Amino acid sequence: MSDCLFCKIVAGEIPSSKVYEDKLCYAFYDIAPQAPTHFLVVPKAHIPSVAGIDEDNGAVVGHIFTVIASLTRELGLESYRVVSNIGEQAGQSVNHLHFHVLGGRDMTWPPG
Ligand code: AMP
Repeated sequence: MSDCLFCKIVAGEIPSSKVYEDKLCYAFYDIAPQAPTHFLVVPKAHIPSVAGIDEDNGAVVGHIFTVIASLTRELGLESYRVVSNIGEQAGQSVNHLHFHVLGGRDMTWPPG
């Protein structure tokens, strides 16, 4: 999608601090980290949010979770949180499906 920030990051049109890339997904460090380790994993294909996942495009989500399990192992993160915000009220600010991976500090529940 031409006016999507994360599509531009995936395409290399906007710089990012890459953690990992394969043909289906791209992972990069969050520009405003909320934990000592905070990166985002996004599908390369544009999906607006979890609410846009369906039978046709949803396989990438399972793939992303295998990537998260592998990257966190490599980074030595034994405990971490995976978050996806959907819609304005939940705090979604970029309308391209992304999973926050946060770790390296104590966390509280429920989230704010
Ligand atoms: P959300 O608010 O859940 O939609 O998450 C969007 C995330 O994207 C926020 O945590 C932002 O800090 C992050 N973000 C925005 N612009 C960039 C960028 N250029 N590079 C890396 N992360 C970004």
